[in-house]
Amino acid sequence: MIPFIDLTQQYNELKAELEPVLLSVCRQGQYIMGSAVADFEEKIADYLNVEYAVSCGNGTDALTMLLEAMEIGVGDQVITTPFTFFSTAEAIARVGATPVFADIDEKTFNIDSHKAEAALSPRTKAILPVHLFGNPADMDAIQCLAQTHGLKVVEDACQAIGARYQGRPIGSLGHGAAFSFFPTKNLGCFGDGGLMTTNDPQLAAKLRSLRMHGSSGNQKYINERLGYNSRLDTLQAAILQVKLAHLDRWNNRRRKLAAYYTEKLCGFDLIPQQETPQAESVYHLYAVKTERRDRQLQLLKDRGIASGIYYPIPLHLQKAFAYLGYQKGDFPVAEALAEKILALPLFPELTSAQQDQVIDCLKSCKFQ
Ligand SMILES: *Cc1c(COP(=O)(O)O)cnc(C)c1O
Repeated sequence: MIPFIDLTQQYNELKAELEPVLLSVCRQGQYIMGSAVADFEEKIADYLNVEYAVSCGNGTDALTMLLEAMEIGVGDQVITTPFTFFSTAEAIARVGATPVFADIDEKTFNIDSHKAEAALSPRTKAILPVHLFGNPADMDAIQCLAQTHGLKVVEDACQAIGARYQGRPIGSLGHGAAFSFFPTKNLGCFGDGGLMTTNDPQLAAKLRSLRMHGSSGNQKYINERLGYNSRLDTLQAAILQVKLAHLDRWNNRRRKLAAYYTEKLCGFDLIPQQETPQAESVYHLYAVKTERRDRQLQLLKDRGIASGIYYPIPLHLQKAFAYLGYQKGDFPVAEALAEKILALPLFPELTSAQQDQVIDCLKSCKFQ
C-alpha cells in the first residue's frame, strides 16, 4: 500500500519536539491569542520576507478578509483561474464581488496572463492568481497588468508556502497573500489555520481588526467595523512554530522526489506540470497530464497505490457558480486538463523504493 499522503510519519518524526510544546500550551491556559500566536507571526513574516503576517482561522477566511480589507465588494470584478480549489472563487463571491475567470496556461496550469488581460473590464478591481500545486504563477506579467490598470494583486499562496519567484518568496509579491495550514498543505497544523501577509501597514491593521470582530484588540468590546471570528488557535501556532523550522528541508525533499518522477516518467506520454525559469515550485502535488488516465488510475488502484484527481470540475462548471452564466467550452484549456490530470503520491516521507513502485506501475501501463 502506498498512500497519497501520510501525516503520521511526520508526527512520529517530530513527536519529541512537539509534545512538550503542546503540553505547555495546555498548561498555560491562554488558548486564544496566547503568546505563541505573535511569536509565530513574527517568525513567519521573517521567513516570507514580508512586513506583516496576520494569522487567522483558515485559508478561505484569509482570502475573504484580504478582499474585504481592500474594499472589494458588490459591483466589483476579480479575475482568477477556473482551475483551482473552490474557495479561491468562493472568497470573491463571499464579499459580494463577481469572480471573472480567465483560462490557464497548458504547461504551468496557472492563469494565463494574456487571457487575464482579455478579461479586464472597467469593473475589474483585482487579480487573484493561484500558485497551483506549489508552482508560482506568472507574477511579472500579472503585476505589470495590475500596475497598468490600477488593480490589486492578491496571491492565493495556500498551496505554495516556501515557493520562490525570481528568488523571492511567494506571498511577498502582491498587495496581499493568503496561506492555509490545513493539515495536508506543505506546512500544516492539526486542524484549520491560515495566514494573511502584506507590506501595507494600514491593510495589516485592518486585517487584525477583521479577524477579531472588527475590534482593534487594544480595547475589548470596542468594535469599529463588522468582522469575523477567525483567529489561529494558540495550540496551532505553537505547532506551526515547531514545524516551520523543518519546512525548507521538507520542500527540498518534495522537489527531489518531483525531479525523479519527471526524469523516470519522461517518454511515457505523461506530461508533468512545468515550472517557468523564474519559478521554483514546492510541489504541494505532483500532477501529470495523461491521455490514458482511467486505465492508469485503475492500474495504480489494483496495485494498492493511491492517486488523486485535482480538480475534476473547473469552477466555471460548478453548480454553485451557475449564476455567473459560464458554459462548457468557455475555458478549453482548463476543461481539457480536468479530464487528463492525475496526481501521484508525493510527501516528504515517501521512500525511493515506494516511488520506484509508482513509476514501474505507470511504465507497465504503456505496454498493455
Ligand atoms: C487549501 C486551499 C484554500 C483554502 O484553505 P483552507 O485553509 O482549507 O480554507 C484556498 N485555495 C487553495 C488553492 C487551496 O489549496
